[in-house]
Amino acid sequence: MLVVMQSDATQTQIDNVCRVIGEMGYKAVPMPGGQRTAIGLVGNDGRVDDSQVVSLPGVAQVIHVSQPFKQVSREWKPETTQVTLSPGVVIGGNDIVVIAGPCSVESEQQIVTAARAVRAAGATALRGGAFKPRSSPYTFQGLGVKGLELLALAKRETGLAVVSEAMDEAGAELVAKYADCIQVGARNMQNYSLLRAVGRLGRPVLLKRGMAATIHELLLSAEYILAEGNPHVILCERGVRSFDNVTRNMFDLNAIPIVQKLSHLPIIADPSHATGLREKVTPMARAAVAAGADGIMVEVHPTPERALSDGAQSLFPEQFTHLMMELRLIAEAIGRRMAPSPGTAAVEIG
Ligand code: PEP
Ligand code: MN
Repeated sequence: MLVVMQSDATQTQIDNVCRVIGEMGYKAVPMPGGQRTAIGLVGNDGRVDDSQVVSLPGVAQVIHVSQPFKQVSREWKPETTQVTLSPGVVIGGNDIVVIAGPCSVESEQQIVTAARAVRAAGATALRGGAFKPRSSPYTFQGLGVKGLELLALAKRETGLAVVSEAMDEAGAELVAKYADCIQVGARNMQNYSLLRAVGRLGRPVLLKRGMAATIHELLLSAEYILAEGNPHVILCERGVRSFDNVTRNMFDLNAIPIVQKLSHLPIIADPSHATGLREKVTPMARAAVAAGADGIMVEVHPTPERALSDGAQSLFPEQFTHLMMELRLIAEAIGRRMAPSPGTAAVEIG
Protein backbone atom coordinates (compact mmCIF):
# COMPACT_ATOMS: atom_id res chain seq x y z
CA MET A 1 0.00 0.00 0.00
CA LEU A 2 1.17 3.49 -0.83
CA VAL A 3 -0.12 6.53 1.02
CA VAL A 4 0.17 9.66 -1.13
CA MET A 5 0.22 12.83 0.96
CA GLN A 6 -1.24 16.16 -0.13
CA SER A 7 1.36 18.54 -1.59
CA ASP A 8 0.96 20.87 1.41
CA ALA A 9 1.07 18.10 4.03
CA THR A 10 3.13 19.05 7.08
CA GLN A 11 5.98 16.98 8.53
CA THR A 12 3.80 16.37 11.61
CA GLN A 13 1.08 14.88 9.39
CA ILE A 14 3.66 12.68 7.59
CA ASP A 15 5.08 11.52 10.94
CA ASN A 16 1.57 10.76 12.15
CA VAL A 17 0.82 8.52 9.15
CA CYS A 18 4.12 6.68 9.72
CA ARG A 19 3.21 6.20 13.40
CA VAL A 20 -0.23 4.77 12.57
CA ILE A 21 1.30 2.38 9.99
CA GLY A 22 3.77 1.25 12.68
CA GLU A 23 0.91 0.68 15.15
CA MET A 24 -0.84 -1.45 12.51
CA GLY A 25 2.21 -3.75 12.62
CA TYR A 26 3.83 -2.70 9.33
CA LYS A 27 6.90 -0.68 8.38
CA ALA A 28 6.47 2.81 6.94
CA VAL A 29 8.93 3.96 4.25
CA PRO A 30 8.61 7.71 3.58
CA MET A 31 9.56 8.66 0.01
CA PRO A 32 9.81 12.43 -0.38
CA GLY A 33 9.23 13.52 -3.98
CA GLY A 34 9.47 16.75 -5.94
CA GLN A 35 5.73 17.44 -5.69
CA ARG A 36 4.65 15.50 -2.64
CA THR A 37 5.65 12.77 -0.23
CA ALA A 38 4.45 9.20 -0.56
CA ILE A 39 4.67 6.73 2.31
CA GLY A 40 5.08 3.08 1.43
CA LEU A 41 3.77 0.39 3.73
CA VAL A 42 5.87 -2.77 3.72
CA GLY A 43 5.53 -6.09 5.47
CA ASN A 44 2.15 -7.17 4.07
CA ASP A 45 1.53 -10.17 1.87
CA GLY A 46 -2.06 -9.36 0.94
CA ARG A 47 -4.39 -6.38 0.76
CA VAL A 48 -4.14 -4.13 3.82
CA ASP A 49 -7.21 -2.62 5.54
CA ASP A 50 -6.66 1.09 4.88
CA SER A 51 -9.50 2.38 7.07
CA GLN A 52 -7.17 3.70 9.80
CA VAL A 53 -5.06 5.65 7.29
CA VAL A 54 -7.35 6.93 4.55
CA SER A 55 -8.92 9.78 6.52
CA LEU A 56 -5.86 10.92 8.46
CA PRO A 57 -5.03 14.64 8.07
CA GLY A 58 -2.84 15.38 5.04
CA VAL A 59 -3.59 12.11 3.19
CA ALA A 60 -4.53 12.67 -0.48
CA GLN A 61 -4.89 9.11 -1.71
CA VAL A 62 -4.22 5.48 -0.82
CA ILE A 63 -2.98 3.21 -3.65
CA HIS A 64 -3.07 -0.56 -3.23
CA VAL A 65 -0.15 -2.28 -4.96
CA SER A 66 -1.68 -5.29 -6.66
CA GLN A 67 1.57 -7.11 -7.44
CA PRO A 68 3.19 -9.46 -4.89
CA PHE A 69 6.49 -7.69 -5.56
CA LYS A 70 5.73 -4.38 -3.90
CA GLN A 71 8.75 -2.08 -3.79
CA VAL A 72 9.96 -3.44 -7.12
CA SER A 73 6.71 -2.62 -8.94
CA ARG A 74 6.00 0.39 -11.13
CA GLU A 75 2.84 0.97 -9.12
CA TRP A 76 5.10 1.71 -6.15
CA LYS A 77 7.51 3.92 -8.11
CA PRO A 78 6.49 5.13 -11.58
CA GLU A 79 9.87 6.49 -12.69
CA THR A 80 12.68 4.13 -13.75
CA THR A 81 15.38 3.64 -11.13
CA GLN A 82 18.85 4.75 -12.09
CA VAL A 83 21.63 2.70 -10.55
CA THR A 84 25.04 4.35 -10.32
CA LEU A 85 27.85 1.78 -10.62
CA SER A 86 30.68 4.28 -10.27
CA PRO A 87 30.88 8.05 -10.78
CA GLY A 88 29.29 8.81 -14.17
CA VAL A 89 28.29 5.19 -14.91
CA VAL A 90 24.52 5.05 -14.56
CA ILE A 91 22.22 2.21 -15.65
CA GLY A 92 18.55 3.02 -16.18
CA GLY A 93 18.83 6.39 -17.91
CA ASN A 94 18.87 7.17 -21.60
CA ASP A 95 22.41 5.82 -22.03
CA ILE A 96 22.93 2.13 -22.80
CA VAL A 97 25.66 0.62 -20.69
CA VAL A 98 27.91 -2.21 -21.90
CA ILE A 99 29.53 -4.50 -19.34
CA ALA A 100 32.13 -6.64 -21.11
CA GLY A 101 35.01 -8.93 -20.25
CA PRO A 102 35.91 -12.56 -19.76
CA CYS A 103 33.76 -15.12 -18.02
CA SER A 104 36.51 -15.67 -15.42
CA VAL A 105 39.54 -13.73 -14.29
CA GLU A 106 42.45 -16.02 -15.20
CA SER A 107 45.65 -14.00 -14.89
CA GLU A 108 46.91 -10.42 -14.69
CA GLN A 109 47.81 -10.41 -18.35
CA GLN A 110 44.44 -11.85 -19.41
CA ILE A 111 42.25 -9.44 -17.42
CA VAL A 112 44.29 -6.31 -18.13
CA THR A 113 44.44 -7.12 -21.86
CA ALA A 114 40.69 -7.79 -21.89
CA ALA A 115 39.95 -4.59 -19.94
CA ARG A 116 42.05 -2.47 -22.31
CA ALA A 117 40.41 -4.04 -25.37
CA VAL A 118 36.82 -3.57 -24.20
CA ARG A 119 37.59 -0.06 -23.00
CA ALA A 120 39.07 0.84 -26.39
CA ALA A 121 35.92 -0.48 -28.08
CA GLY A 122 33.72 1.68 -25.85
CA ALA A 123 32.60 -0.54 -22.95
CA THR A 124 31.59 1.19 -19.74
CA ALA A 125 32.25 -1.59 -17.28
CA LEU A 126 34.39 -4.70 -16.95
CA ARG A 127 33.06 -8.11 -15.99
CA GLY A 128 35.07 -11.04 -14.70
CA GLY A 129 34.26 -13.84 -12.29
CA ALA A 130 36.57 -14.55 -9.35
CA PHE A 131 34.14 -16.99 -7.72
CA LYS A 132 32.70 -19.23 -10.42
CA PRO A 133 29.55 -21.34 -10.08
CA ARG A 134 30.54 -24.28 -12.30
CA SER A 135 28.40 -27.31 -13.09
CA SER A 136 31.33 -29.63 -12.33
CA PRO A 137 33.44 -29.38 -9.16
CA TYR A 138 36.47 -30.48 -11.21
CA THR A 139 36.49 -27.49 -13.60
CA PHE A 140 38.15 -24.11 -12.95
CA GLN A 141 36.45 -22.54 -9.93
CA GLY A 142 37.92 -19.04 -10.18
CA LEU A 143 40.94 -17.33 -8.58
CA GLY A 144 38.97 -16.09 -5.53
CA VAL A 145 40.44 -13.07 -3.76
CA LYS A 146 43.42 -13.03 -6.14
CA GLY A 147 40.91 -12.60 -8.99
CA LEU A 148 39.29 -9.67 -7.20
CA GLU A 149 42.70 -8.04 -6.70
CA LEU A 150 43.37 -8.41 -10.42
CA LEU A 151 39.99 -6.83 -11.23
CA ALA A 152 40.87 -3.89 -9.00
CA LEU A 153 44.17 -3.59 -10.87
CA ALA A 154 42.37 -3.64 -14.24
CA LYS A 155 40.03 -0.95 -12.94
CA ARG A 156 42.98 1.24 -11.96
CA GLU A 157 44.51 0.71 -15.42
CA THR A 158 41.37 1.52 -17.40
CA GLY A 159 38.92 3.42 -15.18
CA LEU A 160 36.20 0.88 -16.01
CA ALA A 161 33.60 0.06 -13.35
CA VAL A 162 33.84 -3.57 -12.24
CA VAL A 163 31.12 -6.23 -11.90
CA SER A 164 31.88 -9.60 -10.29
CA GLU A 165 29.86 -12.51 -8.98
CA ALA A 166 29.41 -13.60 -5.38
CA MET A 167 28.15 -17.06 -4.50
CA ASP A 168 27.68 -16.69 -0.75
CA GLU A 169 27.52 -14.10 2.00
CA ALA A 170 31.25 -14.10 2.77
CA GLY A 171 32.00 -13.83 -0.95
CA ALA A 172 29.59 -10.89 -1.27
CA GLU A 173 31.48 -8.98 1.41
CA LEU A 174 34.75 -9.63 -0.42
CA VAL A 175 33.33 -8.67 -3.83
CA ALA A 176 31.94 -5.46 -2.30
CA LYS A 177 35.47 -4.52 -1.18
CA TYR A 178 36.94 -4.73 -4.68
CA ALA A 179 34.11 -4.34 -7.21
CA ASP A 180 31.49 -1.69 -7.96
CA CYS A 181 28.64 -4.13 -8.42
CA ILE A 182 27.92 -7.57 -6.96
CA GLN A 183 26.54 -10.08 -9.45
CA VAL A 184 24.08 -12.68 -8.19
CA GLY A 185 24.12 -15.41 -10.82
CA ALA A 186 21.33 -17.46 -12.31
CA ARG A 187 22.06 -20.41 -10.01
CA ASN A 188 21.67 -18.20 -6.96
CA MET A 189 18.63 -16.15 -7.96
CA GLN A 190 16.60 -17.91 -5.29
CA ASN A 191 19.35 -18.10 -2.67
CA TYR A 192 17.35 -15.98 -0.26
CA SER A 193 20.04 -15.62 2.40
CA LEU A 194 22.45 -14.32 -0.28
CA LEU A 195 19.77 -11.92 -1.55
CA ARG A 196 19.24 -10.58 1.96
CA ALA A 197 23.00 -10.27 2.47
CA VAL A 198 23.55 -8.22 -0.70
CA GLY A 199 20.51 -6.19 0.34
CA ARG A 200 22.17 -5.36 3.65
CA LEU A 201 25.46 -4.45 1.96
CA GLY A 202 23.65 -1.65 0.11
CA ARG A 203 25.93 -1.85 -2.94
CA PRO A 204 24.70 -2.09 -6.56
CA VAL A 205 23.55 -5.64 -7.37
CA LEU A 206 23.20 -7.28 -10.78
CA LEU A 207 20.53 -9.94 -10.34
CA LYS A 208 20.41 -12.53 -13.13
CA ARG A 209 17.29 -14.47 -13.97
CA GLY A 210 17.39 -18.09 -12.86
CA MET A 211 17.52 -20.63 -15.65
CA ALA A 212 14.04 -21.93 -14.83
CA ALA A 213 12.63 -18.84 -13.15
CA THR A 214 9.51 -16.98 -14.20
CA ILE A 215 9.59 -13.22 -14.59
CA HIS A 216 7.50 -12.91 -11.42
CA GLU A 217 10.02 -15.03 -9.51
CA LEU A 218 12.83 -12.79 -10.74
CA LEU A 219 10.97 -9.73 -9.50
CA LEU A 220 10.19 -11.37 -6.14
CA SER A 221 13.89 -12.17 -5.74
CA ALA A 222 14.67 -8.50 -6.38
CA GLU A 223 12.07 -7.64 -3.73
CA TYR A 224 14.23 -9.48 -1.14
CA ILE A 225 17.07 -7.05 -1.88
CA LEU A 226 14.85 -3.95 -1.78
CA ALA A 227 13.15 -5.20 1.39
CA GLU A 228 16.57 -4.95 3.11
CA GLY A 229 16.71 -1.28 2.13
CA ASN A 230 18.91 -1.59 -0.98
CA PRO A 231 17.23 -0.02 -4.05
CA HIS A 232 20.34 -0.34 -6.29
CA VAL A 233 19.27 -3.41 -8.26
CA ILE A 234 19.79 -4.10 -11.97
CA LEU A 235 17.95 -7.09 -13.46
CA CYS A 236 19.46 -9.28 -16.16
CA GLU A 237 17.77 -11.53 -18.71
CA ARG A 238 20.24 -14.32 -19.55
CA GLY A 239 18.04 -16.94 -21.17
CA VAL A 240 16.05 -19.80 -19.70
CA ARG A 241 16.22 -23.56 -20.20
CA SER A 242 14.04 -24.88 -22.97
CA PHE A 243 13.35 -28.17 -24.75
CA ASP A 244 15.66 -27.12 -27.57
CA ASN A 245 19.36 -27.78 -27.01
CA VAL A 246 20.67 -26.12 -30.17
CA THR A 247 21.50 -23.10 -28.02
CA ARG A 248 22.68 -23.22 -24.39
CA ASN A 249 19.52 -21.41 -23.28
CA MET A 250 16.52 -19.76 -24.89
CA PHE A 251 16.90 -15.99 -24.90
CA ASP A 252 13.67 -14.49 -23.61
CA LEU A 253 13.61 -11.16 -25.42
CA ASN A 254 10.01 -10.63 -24.28
CA ALA A 255 11.22 -10.34 -20.72
CA ILE A 256 12.78 -6.94 -21.43
CA PRO A 257 9.59 -4.95 -22.24
CA ILE A 258 7.55 -7.05 -19.79
CA VAL A 259 9.87 -6.29 -16.88
CA GLN A 260 9.94 -2.63 -17.89
CA LYS A 261 6.15 -2.51 -17.67
CA LEU A 262 5.98 -4.30 -14.33
CA SER A 263 8.99 -2.80 -12.58
CA HIS A 264 10.91 0.44 -12.27
CA LEU A 265 14.23 -1.43 -12.01
CA PRO A 266 16.59 -1.22 -14.99
CA ILE A 267 17.04 -4.40 -17.03
CA ILE A 268 20.02 -5.50 -19.11
CA ALA A 269 20.51 -8.59 -21.28
CA ASP A 270 23.30 -11.16 -21.44
CA PRO A 271 23.36 -12.61 -24.97
CA SER A 272 26.48 -14.68 -24.15
CA HIS A 273 24.90 -17.05 -21.63
CA ALA A 274 21.54 -16.76 -23.42
CA THR A 275 22.94 -18.41 -26.54
CA GLY A 276 26.22 -20.08 -25.57
CA LEU A 277 27.37 -19.66 -29.19
CA ARG A 278 29.83 -16.96 -30.22
CA GLU A 279 28.27 -16.27 -33.60
CA LYS A 280 24.80 -15.83 -32.07
CA VAL A 281 25.94 -13.27 -29.49
CA THR A 282 26.12 -10.32 -31.88
CA PRO A 283 22.61 -10.66 -33.39
CA MET A 284 21.06 -11.19 -29.95
CA ALA A 285 22.95 -8.22 -28.48
CA ARG A 286 21.61 -6.09 -31.33
CA ALA A 287 18.10 -7.40 -30.66
CA ALA A 288 18.35 -6.68 -26.93
CA VAL A 289 19.29 -3.06 -27.51
CA ALA A 290 16.56 -2.69 -30.13
CA ALA A 291 14.06 -4.19 -27.62
CA GLY A 292 14.90 -1.46 -25.13
CA ALA A 293 17.41 -3.06 -22.75
CA ASP A 294 19.22 -0.57 -20.54
CA GLY A 295 22.48 -2.33 -21.24
CA ILE A 296 24.11 -5.58 -22.19
CA MET A 297 26.64 -7.86 -20.56
CA VAL A 298 28.92 -9.62 -23.05
CA GLU A 299 31.73 -12.10 -22.58
CA VAL A 300 34.90 -11.04 -24.43
CA HIS A 301 38.25 -12.84 -24.10
CA PRO A 302 41.64 -11.92 -25.61
CA THR A 303 42.10 -15.58 -26.67
CA PRO A 304 38.72 -17.34 -26.40
CA GLU A 305 40.13 -20.66 -27.64
CA ARG A 306 42.27 -20.77 -24.49
CA ALA A 307 39.61 -19.51 -22.03
CA LEU A 308 39.25 -21.49 -18.79
CA SER A 309 35.45 -21.04 -18.90
CA ASP A 310 32.85 -20.16 -21.53
CA GLY A 311 35.34 -19.78 -24.40
CA ALA A 312 32.79 -20.99 -26.98
CA GLN A 313 30.53 -18.02 -26.28
CA SER A 314 33.24 -15.39 -25.77
CA LEU A 315 33.74 -12.81 -28.51
CA PHE A 316 37.15 -12.03 -29.94
CA PRO A 317 38.04 -8.38 -29.20
CA GLU A 318 37.65 -7.45 -32.90
CA GLN A 319 34.12 -8.90 -32.94
CA PHE A 320 33.26 -6.87 -29.86
CA THR A 321 34.61 -3.68 -31.46
CA HIS A 322 32.39 -4.30 -34.47
CA LEU A 323 29.37 -5.03 -32.26
CA MET A 324 29.87 -1.74 -30.43
CA MET A 325 29.79 0.13 -33.74
CA GLU A 326 26.52 -1.53 -34.64
CA LEU A 327 25.01 -0.87 -31.23
CA ARG A 328 25.75 2.84 -31.59
CA LEU A 329 23.65 2.92 -34.75
CA ILE A 330 20.78 0.98 -33.15
CA ALA A 331 20.85 3.17 -30.05
CA GLU A 332 20.63 6.28 -32.19
CA ALA A 333 17.73 4.82 -34.18
CA ILE A 334 15.68 4.41 -31.00
CA GLY A 335 16.58 7.79 -29.53
CA ARG A 336 19.18 6.50 -27.09
CA ARG A 337 22.93 6.70 -26.84
CA MET A 338 25.71 4.28 -25.92
CA ALA A 339 27.15 5.35 -22.56
CA PRO A 340 30.65 6.74 -23.00
CA SER A 341 33.57 4.84 -21.50
CA PRO A 342 34.58 6.48 -18.21
CA GLY A 343 36.74 9.51 -18.81
CA THR A 344 35.87 9.94 -22.49
CA ALA A 345 33.41 12.14 -24.33
CA ALA A 346 30.42 10.40 -25.94
CA VAL A 347 30.95 9.31 -29.53
CA GLU A 348 28.37 11.12 -31.59
CA ILE A 349 27.19 9.66 -34.88
CA GLY A 350 26.61 12.53 -37.26
C1 PEP B 1 28.42 -15.56 -15.64
O1 PEP B 1 27.99 -14.40 -15.77
O2 PEP B 1 29.59 -15.90 -15.92
C2 PEP B 1 27.46 -16.61 -15.23
C3 PEP B 1 27.87 -17.69 -14.57
O3 PEP B 1 26.21 -16.34 -15.63
P1 PEP B 1 24.81 -17.05 -15.25
O4 PEP B 1 24.70 -16.93 -13.76
O5 PEP B 1 23.80 -16.24 -15.99
O6 PEP B 1 24.88 -18.47 -15.72
MN1 MN C 1 30.27 -17.23 -18.16
